Amino acid sequence: MRTSVIAAAFLSTVVVMHADTYLRQPGVDAQHYAFKLTLLTTDSNEITGEATVRLRVVRPETREVLLDFATAMPEGKGMTVTAVTRDGKGVAFTHTDSYLRLPIDGARAGEDVTFTIAYHGIPANGLRLLNNIHGDRCAFSENWYNQARQWLPVIDHIADKATGEFVITTRSEYQVVGNGTLVEEADLPGGLRRTHWKQDEPIAPWLYALGVAKFVVHHGPVVRGVPLSFWAFPQDAERGLPKLEKDARGAFEFFSDRVGPYGYDKLAHVEAAGMGGGMESTTNIFYGEKSVATTSANTLPIVHETAHQWFGNSVTESDWNDVWLSEGFATYFTLLYTEHAAGREAFVDGLRRSRDNVLRAEKAQPNTPVVHANFNEAGKSGPNTQLAYQKGGWTLHMLRDRIGTDAFWRGIRAYYREHTHGLATTDDLRHAMETASGRDLAPFFRQWLTRSGVPAIEGSWRYDAAAKSVVVTVRQTQAGDLYDVPLDVGVTPASGPARIVRLAMNGRAVTATIVVDAEPASVTLDPNVWLLAEFGAFTREQQQ
Ligand SMILES: [Zn+2]
Repeated sequence: MRTSVIAAAFLSTVVVMHADTYLRQPGVDAQHYAFKLTLLTTDSNEITGEATVRLRVVRPETREVLLDFATAMPEGKGMTVTAVTRDGKGVAFTHTDSYLRLPIDGARAGEDVTFTIAYHGIPANGLRLLNNIHGDRCAFSENWYNQARQWLPVIDHIADKATGEFVITTRSEYQVVGNGTLVEEADLPGGLRRTHWKQDEPIAPWLYALGVAKFVVHHGPVVRGVPLSFWAFPQDAERGLPKLEKDARGAFEFFSDRVGPYGYDKLAHVEAAGMGGGMESTTNIFYGEKSVATTSANTLPIVHETAHQWFGNSVTESDWNDVWLSEGFATYFTLLYTEHAAGREAFVDGLRRSRDNVLRAEKAQPNTPVVHANFNEAGKSGPNTQLAYQKGGWTLHMLRDRIGTDAFWRGIRAYYREHTHGLATTDDLRHAMETASGRDLAPFFRQWLTRSGVPAIEGSWRYDAAAKSVVVTVRQTQAGDLYDVPLDVGVTPASGPARIVRLAMNGRAVTATIVVDAEPASVTLDPNVWLLAEFGAFTREQQQ
């Protein structure tokens, strides 16, 4: 009953605030989690846990806290809580519908309360206990985006960041990698070992990550004061470790130098089972084993996941509506690294591919803006869309064009500095960029982030020999409102470099006359790839 009251109050808030539908608890703020887990000591997929959860009461009337924690299901998966204590005394708790309800009666605002929760169970998701491609037992977490609750009792939303630690007991043949700094490894009787990792900066709960497997660990260079390490299954070490190391140092240096200092104590690049692609867990990046093990020359998403350590992990979107602050940034900063490391041609190729992806995504997901409107956790798909990645990335590219590369980097550095280890919204980014550029960027942000679609542009040109001029006519043909965008026209003479003329594309049709020395060899739209648009035909008219 109480839940429905909270939910109703919350729903009315949503309409006003534009927030995702996660049930927020403004009365409490998670401070620290310590997870002591025993796993893979037998053939069972069951884990045994003791979680110590420290919460700060921030509102005086707060009477209970709900931790997200998957309840046991009839088919045998899920978690069973056996005891909860506070200051050594038993606590009356309920654990239903994947909420663990704990009373905090009597706590004053500003006071911390600490619960210790004993539990066991087979995780239905979040933490996978499985055989890797070589048939070796292992365990890897993949919490995206609300699956930490399947094996860890937490306030499972990005906006409640907390410090934490893993104390893992498992068979001594396994290595254990967790977030943050390695505190202790201790051999125990019975062929077991305890490994303790500690994450000293607050992170979002889904970014807590654990890997347990037989690993070859290569301790790599210390870069900008931070040790990098590389973890591969023994059978894959020879070819996998060089793959994991490719671009790891270069990307780390680039982001450290251009954005700001890395926020954490170490960065591990780890081969992982049970997943594909990459997962940017804080200080612990996991890559799908098939990509690491393969003999083909595929590249791992090392730069993308490294960029997330700055954007997504350290500066975290405060709401799933703004997930593009994570994925759009990782996408564009991968391209920026390409521009830095491989040159402009490779950068522009990447932009073109990304633009094609946006156009495909716009057709597959019409009426979908980059910034979600009240993202619904109960929906089938998570908050990530191709538009959050690709159109989000392109929005940053056009923002750089709009305010200039120097102001862009100034704004990015200020945004990172201001929100390191904290939360940010799209408006926070806008403010940082407005301060850096002295421009009002509200129309730009509205046009690209809260409106769906892209401009569709087509047109024609002709050469007026008598007037020695090129006459360009371009039209916006998309349905709905007009866009207000800069459009570059490139006029390439028979010999020599192209001349670029920028038009203000702010009407249904725009005509411009460009004076030239001689008949051009070609005239093209957006030759330097600065505009996200669907470009239709742009033809030369017959000579008049
Ligand atoms: Zn990503």
